[in-house]
Amino acid sequence: MDYSGKKTIEDIDVKGKKVLVRCDFNVPLSDGEIVDDKRIRESIPTIKYLSDNGAGVILCSHLGRPKDEESKKKCTLAPVAVRLSRLMGKEVKFTTDIIGDEAHAMAADLKPGEIMLIENVRFYKEETKNDPAFAKALASLADIFVNDAFGTAHRAHASTAGVADYLPAVCGYLIKKEITVMGGALANPKRPFVAILGGAKVSDKIGVITNLIDKVDTLIVGGAMAYTFNAARGWRIGDSKFEPDKVELAKEILAKAQAKGLKFLLPVDNVAADKFDVNANIKVFEHGIDDGWMGLDIGPKTQKIFADAVADAGTVIWNGPMGVSEMPPFAHGTIAVAKAIAESNSVSIIGGGDSAAAVEQLGFADKMTHISTGGGASLEFLEGLELPGIACLDDK
Ligand code: AMP
Repeated sequence: MDYSGKKTIEDIDVKGKKVLVRCDFNVPLSDGEIVDDKRIRESIPTIKYLSDNGAGVILCSHLGRPKDEESKKKCTLAPVAVRLSRLMGKEVKFTTDIIGDEAHAMAADLKPGEIMLIENVRFYKEETKNDPAFAKALASLADIFVNDAFGTAHRAHASTAGVADYLPAVCGYLIKKEITVMGGALANPKRPFVAILGGAKVSDKIGVITNLIDKVDTLIVGGAMAYTFNAARGWRIGDSKFEPDKVELAKEILAKAQAKGLKFLLPVDNVAADKFDVNANIKVFEHGIDDGWMGLDIGPKTQKIFADAVADAGTVIWNGPMGVSEMPPFAHGTIAVAKAIAESNSVSIIGGGDSAAAVEQLGFADKMTHISTGGGASLEFLEGLELPGIACLDDK
């Protein structure tokens, strides 16, 4: 999908206008306290631009999955307003209302530069159903819609897409960066273009593989996914996690890659364990894995092969860990790949989720060109699927 022609906040006049901004304030909470405010901090450049340029800024977001009255109490955005206000050094008004009189009165009173936040849009079940009446009611708070929530851009909800039917709609800086860097890499990559895919299941990433196989020069597969491919090429995989019903598909993908002359790298050695446990006995297997052992990470030779392939890459896209990276004995492959990408001079794009977390924990975040702010959304983008929260925005 090419979204490079979408209008951004810099393409419209926001002075004196009321602007509804869909943010991703879906932060982790523990006992009502914000555990990690990264998503709030990342939303500030767009909010600041709008406020500095004389807009009355009306923020909205979802938080968690509120179902009943009890769970709603745990999903209030009230702590987000407090944290955002502290981070910006500026008042952020908060209303427990969403589309009612109180929210409308607060929005109407908002002066240029002022900021307010309405309550969790998912308190209305109409939000996820993209109900037109609810979308229209939300839109009636403002003159312009800005979507800056890339993390929910793959969902057609009222606050991510529906409101765009009623208001001029543009993207904020976060979505703009995702479109520019990820879209740019897919449309016109600096070569060699290397994709590294890992994680649990081939079935989760089959769409990405199918889309990328026509674009990349090298495809690297690690994680449990790799065992389905190694089984497909007739290697013994012992008791490793794999998907028997995807072996035929893996064979077809390997054949297609070979026909295209694509470099398709799979693990040649593996760190295996006698049980799925951090304290398991560990053995490194070259080539096949014996029965009674499960591969939980790529081995040292594979680490080097993968790192060498990344070293001279022009563009690298990485999504998914190389092993069970949440257990330290099986995190070495993921660490080696993160390090190789950080040390390369490539345009480096890290999909959200586990690979983004690994890069951040290891302190490599500032060495990467781009760490996507959306796991599911970035996967769908890499699959070449339409993202309704971006497709709905106005073209330049
Ligand atoms: P995903 O959400 O598809 O990116 O998959 C991430 C999950 O894959 C993590 O929880 C990893 O523990 C798991 N994973 C990666 N490699 C393996 C493996 N060799 N065996 C079992 N699970 C794995």
